[in-house]
Amino acid sequence: MTLSPQPLGRLAIIGWPVSHSRSPLIHNYWLAAQGQSARYEAYPIDPQDDFRAALLDMAAAGFIGANVTVPHKEAAFAAMDEVSAAAQNLGAVNTISFQNGRLIGDNTDGDGFLAGLQTVTPNQDWQKTPALILGAGGAARAIIAALGRAGVPDIRLVNRTRAKAEALSDLAAHINIGDWQDRDGLAEGCGLLINTTSLGMAGQPPLNMVVQGLQKNALVSDIVYTPLHTPLLRAAQAGGFICVDGLGMLLNQAALSFEIWTGTRPDITPELRGLLLADLDEKD
Ligand code: NAP
Repeated sequence: MTLSPQPLGRLAIIGWPVSHSRSPLIHNYWLAAQGQSARYEAYPIDPQDDFRAALLDMAAAGFIGANVTVPHKEAAFAAMDEVSAAAQNLGAVNTISFQNGRLIGDNTDGDGFLAGLQTVTPNQDWQKTPALILGAGGAARAIIAALGRAGVPDIRLVNRTRAKAEALSDLAAHINIGDWQDRDGLAEGCGLLINTTSLGMAGQPPLNMVVQGLQKNALVSDIVYTPLHTPLLRAAQAGGFICVDGLGMLLNQAALSFEIWTGTRPDITPELRGLLLADLDEKD
């Protein structure tokens, strides 16, 4: 006898705009794999609206969970009744659970990023991996905090606007701020290089970066995924470094959210990655 799964309520990604999001594709794949009839929807909320009131309307309409994307992660944090330590540390929420009229917030961005790296190098000793991070926006915040939790001993951080990097100094221990124009030299001896800027994204200038100074076998990660094969990853591949593309973070932060709502960590299958690549009009 096959048991039907416990029925779930509705799920959504909240943003403004939100129609471009790949989250419905990912979560609906997992819902279907579990035999769930529940759907995951794109749910726009106007930044002019009362955000908490909009969330309470969602709870009343049968939603049990939601992801949150730009520009609402900080507003979501402010609207919660309770938040996880990761969300508290960042002042931002990307995962909401609606529980008996209460709004519970979490943030899976940083751990999702790290899980994406660990898929590629499961035995990496983060405590022996100096890292250079380019950028100091919302994604960088989550990534820096996660690297700090993992014990990265030297987090070198550069951003075009240096003051924004300096504002992140307390997110983790051992953060060293450098100047944007010194990034090539700061890569010297690093075992991990991460681009969190929007450089290299379609419609943006490429990221100019010399990767040769990195440790042999260093990991190079670009969280930009439109396009997937960014100029940085192409240069890293040519240099023989280990590359992690932007789908690593996208898929793993989603898997951690799905686990929060359902109690089950879903599989990131080659089939799912293939569906995303097709949707992005990309090839592996
Ligand atoms: P954000 O908060 O707007 O931050 C943008 C960052 O890019 C800032 O550090 C900004 O520097 C820098 N930047 C922009 N234009 C630049 C330029 N011409 N030269 C140098 N630096 C420049 O954005 P975000 O939310 O962190 O997202 C950043 C990128 O990551 C986007 O491409 C986004 O699509 C991608 N992303 C991917 C995932 C994933 O799951 N793979 C998740 C989140 C975000 P300033 O501070 O000087 O402006």
